[in-house]
Amino acid sequence: MIELKNVNKHYGELHVLKDVSLSVRQGEVVVIIGPSGSGKSTLCRTINRLETIDSGEILIEGEPLPQEGKKLAGLRSRIGMVFQSFNLFAHMSILDNVTLAPTDVLKVPRKKAQAEAMKLLERVGVADQANKVPAQLSGGQQQRAAIARALAMHPKAMLFDEPTSALDPEMIGEVLNVMTELASEGMTMLIVTHEMNFARQVADRVIFMDDGKIVEENTPEEFFEHPVSERAQNFLSTIR
Ligand code: ATP
Ligand code: MG
Repeated sequence: MIELKNVNKHYGELHVLKDVSLSVRQGEVVVIIGPSGSGKSTLCRTINRLETIDSGEILIEGEPLPQEGKKLAGLRSRIGMVFQSFNLFAHMSILDNVTLAPTDVLKVPRKKAQAEAMKLLERVGVADQANKVPAQLSGGQQQRAAIARALAMHPKAMLFDEPTSALDPEMIGEVLNVMTELASEGMTMLIVTHEMNFARQVADRVIFMDDGKIVEENTPEEFFEHPVSERAQNFLSTIR
C-alpha cells in the first residue's frame, strides 16, 4: 500500500532521512516512535509529498509518487493526514470543514456531502458541534473533527503525526478511541505517537527511528518487552 525504498532527505547539510525503507500493507497499522528530531514527521510528510526527497523511491499502491499536478492532488486526497496541531480552517464551521474537499475535489453534491459529513461527525462523536467554528470546540473535539474531515475523502490510508501530543490529558483518550476504532475497521494507518499503551494495543508493527534511520522494527510485544538496540532500550526507559 505504502512503500518507501532507500529514501534519503537532507535539509541543507542535515541528513534527516538516511536510507529509509519501509512498507505498510493494506489494513496494517504501523506505529513509528523515536526521540525528538529523529525524522518521524519528515518521513510522514514525504509520503504525501509535503516534502520532496533527494533519492530513493516512494510507491503508493505500487505506483511511484506523482511529482505534481492533478495526480498529486488526487493522491493527497486519498491519503488522509492528521497533524499535531488541529489544522481545521478557523473561519469555517465544522460541517463546512468536513464538506469542503468532497464538494470541491470529488464534486460530491452539497446535500449529499453534508449528509455524509454528519454521519462521520457522529461516528467521531462531535455531530452536536457541526455548526460551530473550531475555536468553540475543545482540542479533543477539534482533533476528532479533523479525523472526520480526512475520512470524508474516503482515504485509502491515514497518516497521523502525533495527533494527541497537543491535547490536554483528559482529551487524549477520546481521540485514541476513534483511532482504535478505525484500526479495527481495517483502515491502513501509519501513526507517529508517544502513546505507548495505545501503540501496544493497536499496532501490528512498531518502527523505532533514531537519527534519521529505522533502527528497529518489530511486533509491539517484542519491541516493548525485548528492545534489541541500546538506543531503543534507552528511549523506552526514559518514557516509562
Ligand atoms: P519530534 O518528535 O520533535 O516531532 P521528529 O522525529 O518528527 O521530531 P522531524 O520534525 O522530522 O523530527 O525533524 C528531523 C530533523 O530535521 C530535525 O533535526 C529538525 O530540526 C530538522 N528539520 C525539520 N524540518 C525542517 C525544515 N523545514 N528545515 C530544516 N530542518 C528541518
Ligand atoms: Mg515530529
